[in-house]
Amino acid sequence: MIDFNRPAFVGKELDYIKDAVNRGMLCGDGAYTKMCSQWIQEKFQVNHVFLTTSCTHALEMAAYLCDLKPGDEVIMPSYTFVSTADAFVLRGARIVFVDIRPDTMNIDEKQIEGAVTSRTRVIVPVHYAGVACEMDTIMGIAKKYGLKVVEDAAQGVDAFYKGKALGTIGDFGCYSFHETKNYTMGEGGALLFQDVRYQEQAEILREKGTDRSKFFRGQVDKYRWVDYGSSYLPSELNAAYLYAQLEEYQRINKKRMDIYQYYHRNLKHLAEEGKIQQPFVPKECIHNAHMYYIKVRDITVRTKLIAYLREKGIMSVFHYVPLHSAPAGKKFGRFFGEDVYTTRESERILRLPMFYNLDMEDVKRIVDAVDGFKEF
Ligand SMILES: *Cc1c(COP(=O)(O)O)cnc(C)c1O
Repeated sequence: MIDFNRPAFVGKELDYIKDAVNRGMLCGDGAYTKMCSQWIQEKFQVNHVFLTTSCTHALEMAAYLCDLKPGDEVIMPSYTFVSTADAFVLRGARIVFVDIRPDTMNIDEKQIEGAVTSRTRVIVPVHYAGVACEMDTIMGIAKKYGLKVVEDAAQGVDAFYKGKALGTIGDFGCYSFHETKNYTMGEGGALLFQDVRYQEQAEILREKGTDRSKFFRGQVDKYRWVDYGSSYLPSELNAAYLYAQLEEYQRINKKRMDIYQYYHRNLKHLAEEGKIQQPFVPKECIHNAHMYYIKVRDITVRTKLIAYLREKGIMSVFHYVPLHSAPAGKKFGRFFGEDVYTTRESERILRLPMFYNLDMEDVKRIVDAVDGFKEF
């Protein structure tokens, strides 16, 4: 059986976990957490990085730091993971869903301005498959209407838009290190931002509402409850696993690219014959091979293809059920304009296996299997 995903393992993870144990500190913000944050800061040119327990939690922190009031509106695509919306719903916001572009599956930047109302506070671009949204346009709209931009860059670690790392362009960026993502710590994420004025509040929020971070730096002589907060610090065990992956990021990236390009080259004739569509990457984007998907004619063909591949021992998957059509989406949000592409394209997409430790022989087997499908 060829799995759809397996968490990356590059080699030093267990050594670093052992080292973390020997250092005698397993709670958050130890040596490995600091090394991971610093690595992200330097590699992606961003001033502030907080490692978190998930991207969902990074989004929750960003939503809190945006200082939303109940009834404020947040614009995002409906074609995304639930956490993108949940984090803002938790703050009492209403979600305004906007259609996607069929070529990248990202929010259609041309429709955002029409969705802005007097209650709009935030735009949340989701960089699907590590391919950037049209950020210049989005930042322009945000500036014009005084909105904040929270990038859901869960899939966008080590991907770029006009030379800038995804997650470093908006007011906040949120990364995921879940085991299904390119670099992992099992469950984990990071909150990124450039503006120092969020730093103190972010620290307090992440440390249960206390000024413990200041206490550790010797800036105050005792730590106290100073504001609302929660616990968003990952353990050193998880950070140690992640650090081993970040050190080898180029190796992980190269392997994923090799898989992506093999799929792309060898399935091209099916696209030329009009049987499938392949992913599109705008020229200003450098993607990170987060996923490889194809699009087939419709949901009927997709269902057949999934069953066919499974029979050949290959796991392929689809996502997402558009949020605006889900029970919570109806309760907490509305769709702006017409759903031309969100539902239709979400029913056509099929993701093929993609992970660091996937054997190239297996990739070949997958391509041959897709090639042999007769019912496109
Ligand atoms: C994976 C993912 C998330 C959630 O990440 P977690 O680290 O599992 O919380 C959020 N948004 C998108 C687009 C994702 O792909």
